[in-house]
Amino acid sequence: MNTAGTADARGVVGSAGWSPAARVRGMGTSIFTEMTELARRTGAVNLGQGVPELDSPAALLKDVADAVLAGSNQYPPAHGFPALREAVAAHQLRRYGLDYQPQGEVLVTTGATEALAAALLALCDPGDEVIAFDPCYDAYAADARLAGARLVAVPLVLDGDGFALDADALRAAVSPRTRVLILNTPHNPTGMVFKAEELEAVADVCREHSLTVITDEVYEHLVYNDGARHLPFAALPEMRERTVVISSAGKTFNTTGWKVGWVCGPAPLVAAVGAAKQFLTYASGTPYQEALARALGSVEEWAAGLRGTLRGNRDLLSDGLTEAGLRPFRADAGYFVQADVRPWGYSDGVRFCRDLPERAGVVAIPTSAFYVSADAPAWLVRFSVCKSGDSIRQAVDQLIAAR
Ligand SMILES: *Cc1c(COP(=O)(O)O)cnc(C)c1O
Repeated sequence: MNTAGTADARGVVGSAGWSPAARVRGMGTSIFTEMTELARRTGAVNLGQGVPELDSPAALLKDVADAVLAGSNQYPPAHGFPALREAVAAHQLRRYGLDYQPQGEVLVTTGATEALAAALLALCDPGDEVIAFDPCYDAYAADARLAGARLVAVPLVLDGDGFALDADALRAAVSPRTRVLILNTPHNPTGMVFKAEELEAVADVCREHSLTVITDEVYEHLVYNDGARHLPFAALPEMRERTVVISSAGKTFNTTGWKVGWVCGPAPLVAAVGAAKQFLTYASGTPYQEALARALGSVEEWAAGLRGTLRGNRDLLSDGLTEAGLRPFRADAGYFVQADVRPWGYSDGVRFCRDLPERAGVVAIPTSAFYVSADAPAWLVRFSVCKSGDSIRQAVDQLIAAR
């Protein structure tokens, strides 16, 4: 879809004669905008976008307010507030045994979003290829394109009631142009958590082909299924030296509007990412950084409660979807549950999602929107569980009634 209005064949828009650069042409509005608008217009329960309706730690909110009033409102250091870099380094060591120096090996960014963009700009030349697993977070393909590179998507395979790595497909996707592999675990949108043997298979490929790895671990604290565990890729043998680790406070503390993220990695990799980052935003979020430095120190306590909430929502929604006659897949982590909508007679999730507000007063997003490769399972639809219990209950009641 083109956001730039009516354009002629050369992409020229309107009488001023300008046209969008090739690197953004057609990036435009998406199914998310359409569905958010549909939710607004119809008053449907919005389980579309992954915007949390959940609380944040009260002490964290107060700390931000205090920091603002105390005057922490100017540029932070380019690499981030020192106390936050120290808290991130301590977090990696405490949780994963990964040792990063706060000075030089940790970089604070404007959310994971900026970290991803800066990393791909820093690591890709025009013509390079970036591998990611399909379905994937929409920024990956866009960032690769901004860097002049191309995203090559390796579909995750449906395996029983969940998703799994296809190691042969990964091997087949590597070419002499492959430079970077993006690994998102816990995975958005599927809720899959990569298992040890899957990570080892990915590491083998990276070792063999000297790939640099960007890990997106923004859901690291939100693994709520018993038996699943977040394993940091950089902790595998020989992987630390080639891995840019990205995470963020947004999903962990339900503060997605603050946009504080971070990068950990060996100094040369972090320096390269920082070189790009300084000309994207330079630095941001001083009061948030200051407050998050404290919150990250006791994140485990907070996250245990949040996982309980999300697990409850996941169970409520999955059971409700089943009762409504749809077929949910297992989500082990994160904000979303996928469902097969064919039992309602739909082969196309886009049509299902366009009809759903009218039929059941619920908004969802077709999972095909997250696929780069053409062979997406069109019948898969994504529902958010990062909502209030009331929203989930209402959605479930209405889905069952609309069965
Ligand atoms: C939300 C999300 C991001 C973006 O994180 P911000 O810190 O809000 O920029 C990146 N990757 C994945 C997989 C996400 O779900």
